[in-house]
Amino acid sequence: MDHAHQYEIALVAHDGKKPEMVRFIMQYHHLLKRKNIRLIATGNTGRYIKESGLEVQCVKSGPYGGDAQIAARVVEGKTHMVIFFRDPLDKHPHEPDIFMLMRLCDVHDVPLATNPATARLLFESVLKLSRNKSRP
Ligand code: PGA
Repeated sequence: MDHAHQYEIALVAHDGKKPEMVRFIMQYHHLLKRKNIRLIATGNTGRYIKESGLEVQCVKSGPYGGDAQIAARVVEGKTHMVIFFRDPLDKHPHEPDIFMLMRLCDVHDVPLATNPATARLLFESVLKLSRNKSRP
């Protein structure tokens, strides 16, 4: 499948949520390693994803503009789904970027999951769609 037909999923996890992100990735490894799925992640989240054996394109770390880079891809129509495990119990220096990313997902109607329960529902529906031969 050519590059243009890949379904891009962005993965971002705040520090307190990285263990949950790793568990989630392992649970859906079979889906995430498909050729028609492209993964993109903020810097440190991306390192964990690579360690799990998946290919991922890393942007900057969140506090250094990574969330903003992913937001730009949402605006450009390059990212089709965002899995963003926020830590609601911690403070973040890049709070404006976090809200920007979430706002732009809403502006552009891009599916956004901010916790594992929602992310599972999104992924299960993607799996079901692909069983019915729709994309991805
Ligand atoms: P990180 O960034 O993956 O580089 O830790 C995530 C974030 O804090 O938004």
